[in-house]
Amino acid sequence: MSNEQAIESLKANLRGKLVQPGDSDYDAVRALYNGMIDKRPRLVARCVDVADVVAAVNFGREQGLLTAIRGGGHNGPGLGSCDDGLVIDLSLMKSVRVDPASRTVRVDAGCTSGDVDHATHAFGLAVPFGIVSTTGVAGLTLGGGTGYLTRKYGLTIDNLLEADVVLADGSFVTASKSQHPDLFWALRGGGGNFGVVTSFLFQAHPVGTVYAGPIFWLAKDAKAVMRAYREFLPTAPEELGTFVGLKTVPPMDPFPKEHWGQRACAVISCYSGAAADGEKAIAPLLKAVPAPIFNWMGPMPFPAIQSMFDPFFPKGLQWYWKGDFVKSLPDEAIDAHIAQAAEAPTALSLMHLYPIDGAVRRAPRDGTAWNTRDATWSMVIAAIDPDAKGADALKRWGRAYWKAVHPFNLEGAYVNFMMDDEADGRIQATYGDNYPRLAQVKRKYDPNNLFRVNQNVRPAA
Ligand SMILES: Cc1cc2nc3c(=O)[nH]c(=O)nc-3n(C[C@H](O)[C@H](O)[C@H](O)COP(=O)(O)OP(=O)(O)OC[C@H]3O[C@@H](n4cnc5c(N)ncnc54)[C@H](O)[C@@H]3O)c2cc1C
Repeated sequence: MSNEQAIESLKANLRGKLVQPGDSDYDAVRALYNGMIDKRPRLVARCVDVADVVAAVNFGREQGLLTAIRGGGHNGPGLGSCDDGLVIDLSLMKSVRVDPASRTVRVDAGCTSGDVDHATHAFGLAVPFGIVSTTGVAGLTLGGGTGYLTRKYGLTIDNLLEADVVLADGSFVTASKSQHPDLFWALRGGGGNFGVVTSFLFQAHPVGTVYAGPIFWLAKDAKAVMRAYREFLPTAPEELGTFVGLKTVPPMDPFPKEHWGQRACAVISCYSGAAADGEKAIAPLLKAVPAPIFNWMGPMPFPAIQSMFDPFFPKGLQWYWKGDFVKSLPDEAIDAHIAQAAEAPTALSLMHLYPIDGAVRRAPRDGTAWNTRDATWSMVIAAIDPDAKGADALKRWGRAYWKAVHPFNLEGAYVNFMMDDEADGRIQATYGDNYPRLAQVKRKYDPNNLFRVNQNVRPAA
């Protein structure tokens, strides 16, 4: 069959649409969340069901095409797309079904965390996802998933009960603790290496109205706040998801005008419970530090804190990411952070430290592919600018910041906070002693590395 005939045959086999260069929607469909990444796939298969995914996987394999898998398209280095290859785009697969009796939720692979929060909130339930509601559930989950509910309920993968997967050979399996347990183990942290997940089944938890929001101090108080936060975190109840960050006061309403554009330190928190208990939970930190410039914690529906920062981060900004797992935060590390943050190239650029403790530590280290359960934080440095001309400055700052603080950190990083320019051995360091087992599972389920547009685990020899 000629190349053109094969494409026509794929088109005929899809219920969804096959988009190609020259189509009027090609640019809109290929656009990724990170405006720094501009990939031009040969074909985008916009799948609407599992049969479409099977057809697309078979086509990619048979035609020897570089094949990328796209959920929400939020990945930093744009690993949901590729140049000159096939993108299996799941973003039209959006169904969410909540079972309030078992408190479980079945989620199609094209959902964002906002899609799921919307559906579960109606039942007073939530699944731990990330802190920006436009992020795709698929990539976030397969990489691990941290957010406000993580201290209490674990990583997103700790709440994954089952996944439907189309494998590289086009076959379909369900992975769970009892079915294909090796695949289920690898999917929980191993990223998009093992197949195309078409649907996830999650355990949800009772979370309704929360006490949440940001508290900001000026940079002159950052040292005191970061030191106090470091001591406070292990004493704080697990209902309090709370991360510390170095940022800039956004130069816009409703932020206090006299502080617009000033460097700042922020603690952003979400207490899952009554407002009075939330106030009590954050009080010891507030007692230990100078008065903030504002404290906007208050009662709100859980989806409100989940989407509170969405307006700052619309699709198409330039992003450069660096990450690390962090075990401890000595005073010298705090000083290095503050010095580097002071050089941030734009007001949107930030550093956040997300807690890795509580329920994350209670899960066994070899129970999932995600390995670094003994870290205390997952650090992200995100250099962000709406202006494409700023891209080089973002990279320079991100790399310099990371270089200055990495000596205080662990060797690996959260795979979802990496670009595609990491040093050799970084993926191995991230998975640590789980790496050889991951490589074995890769060899079993994707021996020819069809799924290699990701933080790649090579099949074991
Ligand atoms: C603004 C912003 C905020 C964020 N906040 C958080 C946060 O709070 N917590 C957190 O943990 N992470 C966070 N992240 C990181 C996020 O987890 C990653 O960007 C993740 O890759 C996004 O998933 P996606 O489906 O949108 O990505 P995509 O770009 O679609 O895909 C990313 C990767 O996942 C694989 N993949 C996607 N879908 C599938 C599938 N169905 N089957 C198999 N493989 C698949 C792809 O191969 C690719 O390698 C944030 C990212 C952004 C941009």
